[in-house]
Amino acid sequence: MTSNHDLLARSLSSVWHPCTQMKRHETLPLVPIARGEGVWLYDADGKRYLDTVSSWWVNLFGHCNPRINAAITDQLGKLEHVMLAGFTHEPVVQLSERLRGLAPAGLGHCFYGSDGASATEIALKMSAHYWRNTGKPQKCEFLSLKNSYHGETLGALSVTDVALFRDAYGSLIKQNATVPCPDWRDAAAGEDAEAYATRCAESLEAHLRVHHESIAAFIVEPLVQGAAGMAMYHPTYLQRARELCSQYDVHLIADEIAVGMGRTGTMFACEQTSLSPNPSPACGRGVRESAGEGKRTGISPDFLLISKGITGGYLPLSIVMTTDDIYQAFYDDKTSRGFLHSHSYTGNPLACRAALATLDIFEQDGVLNTNRDKAAIFNRIATPLREHAKVKHFRNTGMIWAFEVETPHADFAQRCFSLGLKHELLLRPMGNTVYFMPPYIIDETQFHLLITRTLTIIDELI
Ligand SMILES: *Cc1c(COP(=O)(O)O)cnc(C)c1O
Repeated sequence: MTSNHDLLARSLSSVWHPCTQMKRHETLPLVPIARGEGVWLYDADGKRYLDTVSSWWVNLFGHCNPRINAAITDQLGKLEHVMLAGFTHEPVVQLSERLRGLAPAGLGHCFYGSDGASATEIALKMSAHYWRNTGKPQKCEFLSLKNSYHGETLGALSVTDVALFRDAYGSLIKQNATVPCPDWRDAAAGEDAEAYATRCAESLEAHLRVHHESIAAFIVEPLVQGAAGMAMYHPTYLQRARELCSQYDVHLIADEIAVGMGRTGTMFACEQTSLSPNPSPACGRGVRESAGEGKRTGISPDFLLISKGITGGYLPLSIVMTTDDIYQAFYDDKTSRGFLHSHSYTGNPLACRAALATLDIFEQDGVLNTNRDKAAIFNRIATPLREHAKVKHFRNTGMIWAFEVETPHADFAQRCFSLGLKHELLLRPMGNTVYFMPPYIIDETQFHLLITRTLTIIDELI
């Protein structure tokens, strides 16, 4: 086996790592992973790391999951790939049918892409093209939330509000407007999460009232803005956003790339709009447990974006689900009225089989119910962390936990990452925000270990 050291040197000389200042690796070693099993990743020397971030939020049922492995292996013996233009295959049809059954009502048509950013691109293009096909070509701008993140290709960046990206690439993209985000940490003193969400929805209305004639779509990350630092907000905002988008003839794009596939407690976060949140002490201690499945109704967006967890973290795949109304606006004799978009690996059969196996696990293991129970237990286990004097805004939605650490270190994220590795944890803070987004198979013992060691790390960094 290659030694860790050798692999690091070869990687640094040949691989340009994503979203990384490569010079940092002069002092910060890369972590060479040789294999994975369940929640653990192992390096070539056999040292283990608990994958608390599900490898950038994609892994749901652990590394090397036997059931997903079996499905992909079976598919490998049949058909690895065929182009999806002019051809079709069982896995892509089955996946589309099953997603139609799981998604909010009315989203019957599945368009396939290769990753999250391409799903954003597809939805933006499809929305603007819809308005063009229906005689309103001036509706070609987009609206997003402050601190939004929808991917890093140029179209996706045009609806992504991250200062670092804007500064570097702003000149390459068409700038779109943003409206205030209902992140409850920004609420005024004495204002609860719901009141703040309502106030932000009023800003949305004010913007739409003036600009709706030029706006094709409003894109949101439902309930949790992931890359903003796990900013959580009250579902009433989504409810109002749906009403306002309908009223002003603007598409609503729900980017559930990170929050879909059960991450927020329901299969899709959009389902939670009509739930009365359990005692929501959001502005102080933001632990909101999702209510039972029976009560859900939720909203239907015009576009639902799915990626990340859909294949269980195995293979790149994304899906844009949309309505019959939108589909019909493209249905015509003219090629130019059809939707003009394709990727080489669109609807790859191996990826679709991984997704089908992932959906099987949800069904067979009653994952959403189990997660609900787990989250309640984990919140109790996390009590010492929540009550730590230097921990602020401890919050939880479904299987996502986050909090800020009061620390004197400007390079807290990097220090926390390095200390995490020492303590067998893969932690990847964003600034001074630490979050856990573990694979759903994490058990009590492992979560306990995560909390205990995180406390040790924090005590070293405050
Ligand atoms: C990760 C993410 C994307 C982009 O997905 P990629 O596969 O990384 O391109 C888009 N939107 C949200 C909300 C995400 O979290």
